[in-house]
Amino acid sequence: MILHFLGSRGCIDQRSSRHWRHSAMMITQGRERILVDCGEDWLDELDSLRPDAVILTHAHPDHTGGLERGAPCPVWATPGCWQSLDALPVAERRLLHPGQPTAVAALQLTPCPLAHSVRAPAVGLLLDEGAHRIFYSPDVAELSDPATTLRDVSLYIGDGASFDASLLRVENGNLCGHAPIPSQLDWCAAACVKRALFTHCGEEIVSGSHEEMNKRLENLGKERGIEAALAFDGLEVKF
Ligand SMILES: [Zn+2]
Ligand SMILES: [Zn+2]
Repeated sequence: MILHFLGSRGCIDQRSSRHWRHSAMMITQGRERILVDCGEDWLDELDSLRPDAVILTHAHPDHTGGLERGAPCPVWATPGCWQSLDALPVAERRLLHPGQPTAVAALQLTPCPLAHSVRAPAVGLLLDEGAHRIFYSPDVAELSDPATTLRDVSLYIGDGASFDASLLRVENGNLCGHAPIPSQLDWCAAACVKRALFTHCGEEIVSGSHEEMNKRLENLGKERGIEAALAFDGLEVKF
């Protein structure tokens, strides 16, 4: 399996050469290419990406806006996500059910509910690749039981929206927004996850020096026994 970070920018106005396009990850499994999320920045790029399937984590435009002219393949999302996407001209709609293991093309995954938005309910994706389990959650405010959700995960790919600026809020009693990176590293530590990458980078990271930001993240990881680094556009991770 190859994880290719096509984009690593969050829902912000800033861009940098390392974080140019909205977070999207192409998973190559065997001969198949599965694209996770397809935000507005990908609207004119979708045909050249040639995915065999698209998976959507949630219905925010930085994850779905690239499908406004349709998709060349089946698109998978939860019923809660599809509810907000009536207007998308996607012909082949497939359902993911939170908590239910599913095969998307050659990829085995389980969508895991998490807190992020009331209007755009989100899931993280637990990917199973032989001896490796990978958890992908580019937008996350809270995991209800990190030690269980992240059990046996060898790589956590999380939400790089902020180091310490609070991007959390409560709507109708539900925690929404983006958890700071240190909180996500605490979840990893609670589940003995030893490696973490952060995508969906926010203003602080995108406007800052990559080396400084990466060093800061590396140190936060070391304090918890985790090898942590920033994802960036073009990064490939092989398993
Ligand atoms: Zn987002
Ligand atoms: Zn979002």
